[in-house]
Amino acid sequence: MESLFNNSLAIAQQPAWPDREKLAQVVTELRTLPPLVFAGECDNLKSKIAQAASGAAFWLQGGDCAETFAAATADSIRNRIKTILQMAAVLQYGASMPVIKVGRMAGQFAKPRSNDTEKRGEIELPAYRGDAVNDLKFTKESRTPDPSRLLKVYHTSSATLNLVRAFTQGGFADLRLVHEWNKGFVRDSEIGSRYEALAKEIGRALEFMKSAGVNPEEFKTVDFYSSHEALILEYEKALTRIDSRSDQPYDVSAHFLWIGERTRQLDGAHIDFAKKIRNPIGVKIGPKTSPADALALIETLNPEEEPGRLTFIIRMGAKNIRTALPPIVESVKKSGRTVLWVCDPMHGNTYEAPTGYKTRSFDDVMNEVKGFFEVHHKLGTHPGGIHVELTGDDVTECVGGGMDISHEDLATRYESACDPRLNHTQSLELAFLVAEMLRDGKR
Ligand code: PEP
Ligand code: MN
Repeated sequence: MESLFNNSLAIAQQPAWPDREKLAQVVTELRTLPPLVFAGECDNLKSKIAQAASGAAFWLQGGDCAETFAAATADSIRNRIKTILQMAAVLQYGASMPVIKVGRMAGQFAKPRSNDTEKRGEIELPAYRGDAVNDLKFTKESRTPDPSRLLKVYHTSSATLNLVRAFTQGGFADLRLVHEWNKGFVRDSEIGSRYEALAKEIGRALEFMKSAGVNPEEFKTVDFYSSHEALILEYEKALTRIDSRSDQPYDVSAHFLWIGERTRQLDGAHIDFAKKIRNPIGVKIGPKTSPADALALIETLNPEEEPGRLTFIIRMGAKNIRTALPPIVESVKKSGRTVLWVCDPMHGNTYEAPTGYKTRSFDDVMNEVKGFFEVHHKLGTHPGGIHVELTGDDVTECVGGGMDISHEDLATRYESACDPRLNHTQSLELAFLVAEMLRDGKR
């Protein structure tokens, strides 16, 4: 498989593994392990993305900034799934459109960093690069990159995906349980009651259909897809396999892989990797991207114009979205090429609170999504989805929202190993606001 990829290219954001021999052993073992996803599922997702790109479906992608081994528990996984199912119900009911549900989950364990090291006082250690590489604890031992963690990534992803599949195929995601998904969450908030009201409406609609003799199987299960940033190429390459049906290479570590803002150099190893695999892929697009860069990415990654192949995940920041996005969308439109346009309203809006916490304001997040919709409505293109960092837990990491979390509140429950996530309430709130925008756009 190694020969498929160009191994002489520059490769950004890789850990300085101290033990290359151990890394080679790990890679050998990873190559023998069974696929986590089936290539046919990746193709199904691709055709759904093609639908969303044409405006006939909406993409919802959410989960942790950085999954951790410790947080891969039944409760944490279930709360994230419930949150995404609830958001999907709000969006689907509000916009009368199928929603493609994708988790930043079951593999999102590696992080790019702005600095290779972190300094606290006099001590300087390697930066935390995600549980795939090292441990968050600030000691020399914890921060030393350890290749055996890649095996743990595989096994934790496998266990996570198994539970996700059990939940989404085994009855838990049945649309008739739309009320149940709200159980266990803080109920007394305004958004909780709003969700209850919506669940009641959906329940009534389902009862009405049932009374008319319509009770389709489709309501019983949902398709839920896994995704993560393809960052540590040793891992992703070891999990790239030739699909026996099509003879084509697929990265079977997840259904959908994206290339981050820091690793999307056209002549770099990550883009070469993305080019060679047949999964649907995404690329993050930041405020410095030129229209020419965007067109070159399309030409490189989807030269044959395969429908659903390429998604642009736009992360400009609330301040830039209305000026930086239009020239890119315009030139793509003019070229006649198609991508799915997705809004990541998180990564351009991070700042440090006076209390020292990395945070984001819910208003900025909303403002960026609004700007994203405005640009597309003005240019006659489709705002095809959202990509958010969220958790089903009641954390205090992003400020604002209905519960009005303040800078002082951040210390109450700040648990993210990396970037601040929307909590359960903030996530639902976002879904209601996006549903309104989708509805307005259809009028
Ligand atoms: C991320 O999605 O967590 C991330 C690092 O994003 P970006 O590449 O857009 O900065
Ligand atoms: Mn992040």
